[in-house]
Amino acid sequence: MYQGLIHRYRQYLPVSDKTPIVSLSEGNTPLIFSPKLSEKTGLKVYLKYEGLNPTGSFKDRGMTMAISKAAEKGAKIVMCASTGNTSASAAAYAARCGMKCCVLIPNGNIAMGKLAQAMIHHAQVIAIEGNFDNALDLVKDVTAKYPIELVNSINPFRIEGQKTAAFEVVEDLGDAPFFHAIPVGNAGNITAYWKGYNEFFALKKAKRLPKMLGFQAAGSAPIVLDHVVEDPHTVATAIKIGNPASWKSAVAARDDSNGVIDMVTDEEIMMAYELLASGDGVFCEPASAASVAGILKLAEQKYFKPFLGETVVCTLTGHGLKDPTNAMKCVKEPCVVKADIKIILKEIGL
Ligand SMILES: *Cc1c(COP(=O)(O)O)cnc(C)c1O
Repeated sequence: MYQGLIHRYRQYLPVSDKTPIVSLSEGNTPLIFSPKLSEKTGLKVYLKYEGLNPTGSFKDRGMTMAISKAAEKGAKIVMCASTGNTSASAAAYAARCGMKCCVLIPNGNIAMGKLAQAMIHHAQVIAIEGNFDNALDLVKDVTAKYPIELVNSINPFRIEGQKTAAFEVVEDLGDAPFFHAIPVGNAGNITAYWKGYNEFFALKKAKRLPKMLGFQAAGSAPIVLDHVVEDPHTVATAIKIGNPASWKSAVAARDDSNGVIDMVTDEEIMMAYELLASGDGVFCEPASAASVAGILKLAEQKYFKPFLGETVVCTLTGHGLKDPTNAMKCVKEPCVVKADIKIILKEIGL
């Protein structure tokens, strides 16, 4: 029986017999081939669908590690700043092991599904009048002064857990892909994948390393612009971050892999988001679609021309059900008619 990623990859993770494993059977997510995106880009495109983790995002990979290590230390309270998914995940894992969870969120900037998750798992949610970066500064301050565990991705155990997604990709494909495309917010995840690929390469489980392709939203693209963005904006709230915590290691992943960190507009993100749902049957949240928007942009610029037929894995970081409000903005309201077969047939066009 699958028992979660710490159980599966224990030998590559900083855990011991003394670590109480707090797990919801996270990880082991599918790698879905996309014939349509492959045709569009000239590559073999695979989607790493992280929305199928227990709380609906890849954050669970890091959280099983961060909460297990907090429990090992005897922590009673954990705290995080969140654009939504970190709080949903922290709240669930804290509930599972009886810890208190405090979350700071930017007021009014959180998708409804994520807020509902944090609340139903009984986290204490405090909305601040400020953005994510302000919230993270406050959490760093509080956790430095009080015996509270910080479970944002600056917690190194988060990165350790998240690197297992790269392990799964290598095991599914039999090697690392040629390219790995990923949305970039705080840049913890691109850091984690790069670490995971390097570890499996060093162990000769992969014969090569991928080129890392990171994508920020154009309204919050500090790494691309090479300066802090004071007032980031984008429809993709999960990557609405002006001063990424793992900035340096994201740049290192880009440069060491001969990759690219680029930006995509909200329009490009929403196009990719709809295309994934309507063309591939895969529903992710807007931020997740930045990886696909990114490879479509690079394909248009002929970036892939020397690499046709190579493999690219796009991480889809979170589930579409997290953010029903944005989905409903892209579609027409359903029509309402009488419960009459003639009218129904006419509507269908029969
Ligand atoms: C957290 C998150 C991201 C950004 O990941 P980073 O590690 O902060 O770069 C992207 N998409 C979703 C859905 C997320 O929850």
